[in-house]
Amino acid sequence: MTVVDEIKDQLDIIEVVSGYLSIKKAGRNYKALCPFHSEKTPSFVISPERQIWHCFGCGKGGDIFGFVKEIEGVEFKEALRILADKAGIELKREDPKLVNERVKLAEINEKATEFFHYFLSQDLGQKAFDYLKKRKVNPKTIEQFKIGYAPDNFNALLDFLTKRGYTEQEILKAGLLTQNEQGKIYDKFRGRLIFPIRNPEGKTIAFGGRILKENNKAPKYLNSPQTPTYDKSRTVYNLDQAKTEARKKDQLIIVEGYMDVLAVWQKGNQNVIATSGTALTPGQLTIIKRYTPNILLAFDSDSAGSEATKRGIETAIEKGLNVKIINLGKYKDPDEMIQENPKQWEKAIKDAMPIMDFYFESAFQKIKKITPQAQKQVSYAILPLIAKLKSPIDQDHYLKKLSNKLNLEPKILHAEMQNFLREQAKSGKIQGSLRQADKLNKNRVQITLEEYLVAIILLDPKLQAVILKDLKSSDLTETFPKKLYSLIQEKSKKKVQINFSDIEKNLEQSERTKLNLILIKIEEENKKLTAPLGEAEITTQIQNLRNHTLVKKLKVLQKKIQEAEAKKDTDTIKDLTKKITELSQKLSSIQNEG
Ligand SMILES: [Zn+2]
Repeated sequence: MTVVDEIKDQLDIIEVVSGYLSIKKAGRNYKALCPFHSEKTPSFVISPERQIWHCFGCGKGGDIFGFVKEIEGVEFKEALRILADKAGIELKREDPKLVNERVKLAEINEKATEFFHYFLSQDLGQKAFDYLKKRKVNPKTIEQFKIGYAPDNFNALLDFLTKRGYTEQEILKAGLLTQNEQGKIYDKFRGRLIFPIRNPEGKTIAFGGRILKENNKAPKYLNSPQTPTYDKSRTVYNLDQAKTEARKKDQLIIVEGYMDVLAVWQKGNQNVIATSGTALTPGQLTIIKRYTPNILLAFDSDSAGSEATKRGIETAIEKGLNVKIINLGKYKDPDEMIQENPKQWEKAIKDAMPIMDFYFESAFQKIKKITPQAQKQVSYAILPLIAKLKSPIDQDHYLKKLSNKLNLEPKILHAEMQNFLREQAKSGKIQGSLRQADKLNKNRVQITLEEYLVAIILLDPKLQAVILKDLKSSDLTETFPKKLYSLIQEKSKKKVQINFSDIEKNLEQSERTKLNLILIKIEEENKKLTAPLGEAEITTQIQNLRNHTLVKKLKVLQKKIQEAEAKKDTDTIKDLTKKITELSQKLSSIQNEG
């Protein structure tokens, strides 16, 4: 048994996928909103029987390995490692150098977390501890978030880790050291309050450090650089602890800073994460969407209005996320609001405003009277956002609202929005999404009639006899259906019951996946039928296929005969003419039957 088979044996696809998506049972299969393209109705199907998944919207599909590759954005090797880990299977065949590096980095990050955390409770860390106390962070929170303190020393951590057997290069690779222009290497985090940044599985992958004594030369916050295990644009703070509550409440609160996360967490909203220093990136949004499509942003007013935040919000709208804004009023961040007026925080969450309403409000705040000038100003600010909304119903709703408030005909606004879209298309922004749509169409699995007729034998025992009697292997022209059909015929000749797993054993891995995709597609298509396909329909389809195959063969012969005529090869011409006559007769007899 290969490792891959072993892992497949241990893990159930439902368990793996539901670790990332919220799935619902629908008949024999499960359904979910596809995480790989934007959609409002689920077309992502998971089959527990076949242990595969397939999206009928964008055409992606495969087994658990394919799923983890796609959703984690990793190569097969890494997917194998993740799933082996989950299955509790030790990998022996992996590149030992890479394993070694990853294990080392993880160890270094864990040891550094303990190191920093230890110093928070020591005399050296007193001022860091006092700072947390002043900000009302309680001891339980300090433990849960493993907050620490980096001593104000150039080689405290470096010494600590090298004494434990790690090389300077390894610690540097983990992002914990800095190298100056003279080539001197020393601790990156010094005299700072330390927040370990963990991945959704709860492993520390990076650190954020807040300065304790104000210093104009040093940044207030310092984060780890990109490392082999830390990708800033795909990481959010505290998702490991927030994910369960996020799923339960079907909602995530997004704040800007570490201290805000701590305050909101202590207030009892455990579905809170922070972007920590970046605006919302597409990568972060993809990860967030795995847990819930509903996000509440609690950003301070400066950043809520900033271009970077706006871009992040637009991306979120494009990805089909429901974005709401928490109004912080006069408070500069959630932390301050919770410390000074905890009741108002609760109310602010309840009253969170849909993002479009927020944009309406801010656009109308800027104008005093409805003049043609103001009409233009407001529509230019809002129409591009309406155009980004995924749902036509939402679009219509906001176009009407805008038309009411601006006292303009909806059709004028609609035309204006189309203008805007055309402009954008010219500048190439929409081109991308058109190409995307094109790709989606191409990816959509089309199954051929041959595949259909052969595969349905495995799904519908009632049709087995009809097909085996009527369908000749010479009717088939495609490689895969031919192979499949001959396997089925073999069983039938031996009078052995034909079942899926027997057939599957004789197929290569890629053919197995292909067969599963065909079957799941047929299952889904059949669900849409009011009545199951009958024998008569199948017979008709077999005739259609035979017809089609003969026409195909005739075309090939005709081409050959033309070549032979060009070469004046009379023998071949004679031979081919005979074959063509035979085929034509067959064809007309079928057509007469039909
Ligand atoms: Zn999809």
